[in-house]
Amino acid sequence: MSASSDSSIRKIVIVGGGTAGWMAAAPLAQRFAQAGPARPEIVLVESPDIGTIGVGEATLPPIRAYNATLGLDGADFVRKTQGSFKLGIEFRDWGSVGNRFFHGFGDFGPPIDGRSPWQHWLRLQRTVDNLPSYEDWSMATVMAHRNRFTPPEGGAPSAANAFSFAYHFDAGLYAAYLRSYAMERGAQRIEGLIVDVELRPEDGFVAAVKLADGRRIDGDLFIDCSGFRALLIGGAMQSPYEDWSALLPCNSAQAVPSERVAPLTPYTTSTAKSAGWQWRIPLQHRTGNGHVYCNGFISDDEAAATLLAGLDSKALDTPRQLRFTTGRRKQGWVKNVVAIGLAGGFLEPLESTSIQLIMDGVGRLIQFFPDRRCKPHLAAEFNRLMAQQYESTRDFIALHYKLTDRRDSELWRYCADMPIPDTLAHQIELFRATGRVAILDRDSFQEPSWVSLLMGLGLRPEAYDPFVDHVDEAALVQHFARLRQAIQQTAAGMPDHDQYIARHVKAAPA
Ligand SMILES: Cc1cc2nc3c(=O)[nH]c(=O)nc-3n(C[C@H](O)[C@H](O)[C@H](O)COP(=O)(O)OP(=O)(O)OC[C@H]3O[C@@H](n4cnc5c(N)ncnc54)[C@H](O)[C@@H]3O)c2cc1C
Repeated sequence: MSASSDSSIRKIVIVGGGTAGWMAAAPLAQRFAQAGPARPEIVLVESPDIGTIGVGEATLPPIRAYNATLGLDGADFVRKTQGSFKLGIEFRDWGSVGNRFFHGFGDFGPPIDGRSPWQHWLRLQRTVDNLPSYEDWSMATVMAHRNRFTPPEGGAPSAANAFSFAYHFDAGLYAAYLRSYAMERGAQRIEGLIVDVELRPEDGFVAAVKLADGRRIDGDLFIDCSGFRALLIGGAMQSPYEDWSALLPCNSAQAVPSERVAPLTPYTTSTAKSAGWQWRIPLQHRTGNGHVYCNGFISDDEAAATLLAGLDSKALDTPRQLRFTTGRRKQGWVKNVVAIGLAGGFLEPLESTSIQLIMDGVGRLIQFFPDRRCKPHLAAEFNRLMAQQYESTRDFIALHYKLTDRRDSELWRYCADMPIPDTLAHQIELFRATGRVAILDRDSFQEPSWVSLLMGLGLRPEAYDPFVDHVDEAALVQHFARLRQAIQQTAAGMPDHDQYIARHVKAAPA
């Protein structure tokens, strides 16, 4: 990246040092580290008095691409963050009490005759007695059920590389890890409490932020990573917040760590409750747990009691309460302010999408990196792409609530009746009538994820892709049987998740 033209950005100020702040600082510092003396200064301001939200420990597979771009050593990263591996999410009691399904990372096998394998599965399901579940052709799901993990092998497509994975990590250690990375590459950190924002009279751009001790920090570009406070984007820039709580009614969480449980599962667990759901995230030094709920349907005390009752190991602390409003800033980029992280919006953590939205926000900021004029066209394109991603992710998460047979509590009765956006209604009806899936956004969830969810929640399509009828049925049955056997055998030969961690990425005791 060149930093040489007259109107180039000379100083970037990042407001906030949580996951979002350091995830923004690290790639910017890396890119500008090569730019010589003309490189912009990168300054991050954070207030230890305010602190960070301290949750956000499960991720999606593209985090590996983010780490790779930074040149991070995968093993060192897992060790330093007390991390573990994530092959997907196990959902319990979603759709109906007693229901279990897995949203695995990867697909259901290679296309057959150019069509999705699970379309062929839909066809066979009508004619073949006792056809195993479609989940048996998801490598990640089979590995997770057997508690196995090893990274995908290179080379020709095979069962040994037919899956993807992400990480679980300690949020505080992750931010610290990226902080050292960014600071080694020239980013500066300032501790202080921002109490005021100074705007330029001529164009309303932010000129500087002012600290409680009187210091003034000026800059050309401000990245607002101040969390739910949204100091710049909501405060100074007054970008309105679009509230999506009618569609995603949970607005609170209680979070508590508990003792590590062996064996460490290579997946997150999400268990639906009467007024929300509970997460379980296995780390090397502890288990992360939380109960996400709507406080209109359960009191905070009852929510904390539900959380503690649902733990499978001893709590290491008392539950910590968090409050949020699901939604997003109508414009995440206004003038010379770009919001990343919770300042730009929040979708509850059911599918671990917030860190993904941070990564994609940072990626787009780098792609559309402005000069000092911050032409509004760049902001418009950034905002268009972010809106699309937020909305499609919102629909994906809302589907978990909407597609339910549960009527056993106020929350589930509300969700069954709640109106949904046309995009989501179209997705459900398209699948119900034809077995097809609409890809609402190329950067968000793809067909296998939608299928996992729609099928997992119990929706069975009335029809399937008519092209699959052209394949010889006996050959198809054989192909499915061979593939299933290869998947089972490959998974059986893999190490346990615990063993893999012990051998390759064991963290020092916390
Ligand atoms: C219950 C819950 C569970 C979650 N689970 C997941 C998950 O599993 N996966 C996932 O991807 N995401 C998850 N998230 C979201 C994730 O936690 C956040 O996206 C992520 O931590 C980024 O937060 P942030 O950096 O935007 O904000 P914060 O962590 O809140 O950081 C804000 C920063 O701004 C600074 N600041 C604020 N005001 C001032 C001021 N006046 N002066 C100076 N500094 C200031 C603070 O000091 C802090 O450094 C979860 C969120 C919640 C609420």
